[in-house]
This record gives sequence, C-alpha cells and structure tokens, in this order.
Amino acid sequence: MKKLIFATNNQHKLQEINAILGDQYRVLSLTDMNFYEEIPETSPTIEENAVQKARYIYDRTTKNCFADDTGLEVEALDGRPGVFSARYAGENATYQDNVDKLLLEMKEKQNRKACFKTVIALFWDHQLYLFEGKICGQILTKAAGKGGFGYDPVFVPDGYHQTFAEMPTDLKNIISHRAIATQKLISFLQKH
Ligand code: IMP
Repeated sequence: MKKLIFATNNQHKLQEINAILGDQYRVLSLTDMNFYEEIPETSPTIEENAVQKARYIYDRTTKNCFADDTGLEVEALDGRPGVFSARYAGENATYQDNVDKLLLEMKEKQNRKACFKTVIALFWDHQLYLFEGKICGQILTKAAGKGGFGYDPVFVPDGYHQTFAEMPTDLKNIISHRAIATQKLISFLQKH
C-alpha cells in the first residue's frame, strides 16, 4: 500500500480523507509520525495556507505529503470568515464559538448563501500540485445535527435538506468540498 503523509493533527479531517481515499493509500497523520509541533497557518489565502502547511512538513521530511486548508466563504459577509474560519471568534476559539459568532453576524441577513472551499497542496516527487473543491449552500439560522465538525451544523448544501452535521457521514464524504478536492488528488495519484 502506498504511503502519504497528511500534514494534519485534525482527527476529523483524517477520518474523512481516509474514508474518501479507501484502502489504496495508507495516510499517515503527523501524530503517526510523532510530530507534535503546531504548523503555522499565517498566509492571507486558503491556497497559500495549504501550501504553507504542506511545505512545512516537506521541508522537514522531504517525503511526499499533502495538507488541506478549508474556509467557509459567506456572501453576505463579503467572503468572511474565509481563511480565518478556524479563528473567527478568536485565537483559541472552539467550533461552537465560531458557529455562535457566525449565527450572530448573520442574524439580520436575508442572503444566506455560502460556500466551503478546500485546497489540497501536494508535494509529490519534489513538485507542488494544488487541487480545489468547492460546495455551495445556505447558512441556517440555528444549528442542526451532531455529526461532522466545524461549521457543519449550520450549512445545508444546495440540493439537500439536511445540514452536513445531520446527513450520513458517507453522504458528506461523497459531496463535500474536501471530497471533491480529494477526488482530484486521487485522479492525480492514479496517473503518477
Ligand atoms: P483549517 O484551517 O483547514 O483547519 O479549517 C479551518 C476551519 O474551517 C476549521 O477550524 C473548521 O471550523 C472549518 N472546517 C474545515 N473543514 C470543515 C468541514 O468539512 N466542515 C465544517 N467546517 C470545516
């Protein structure tokens, strides 16, 4: 089985990526590599953040590795929280804090359109490749569902009636921003 390092310690992301990649690849997280340093994510865009995270690990291992960076872009908030999605409500904000802040900022807004965007940055044979996945939908006025993570309880993808947190995990893993980006990664890996 081929091995790939995923530059994350986020167990939710790891589970999703493993479920999407299936058993063709063995994905090693930073925990599996005994790497516990916090990876800087200080870039101004989602793309650059993904590259920054992947490069941080590549520079230290020179092994094939990838990182993902995700943001929720809300139309009525001029694209916020976007690249600041993890720390929307402050440096040490929890998922709940961020969702609460989003619901508050969206309180009076009629336009509830938003898109999740994931960029995967891959270092493969010492070259950098980027893969993007995007899904658009609506922000609810209150949270619903216990599955998923992050902003999942307030996001209903277009064409569905449940939030990412209400729908079966298998479904989120077929349609999500991360799934779309990961499918592109898989197509690339199958060709190389
Ligand atoms: P990161 O910088 O890629 O780790 O992601 C930024 C933030 O976006 C996370 O802290 C989560 O709040 C949120 N996020 C990332 N992926 C998802 C997802 O699949 N669903 C909901 N929220 C997500």
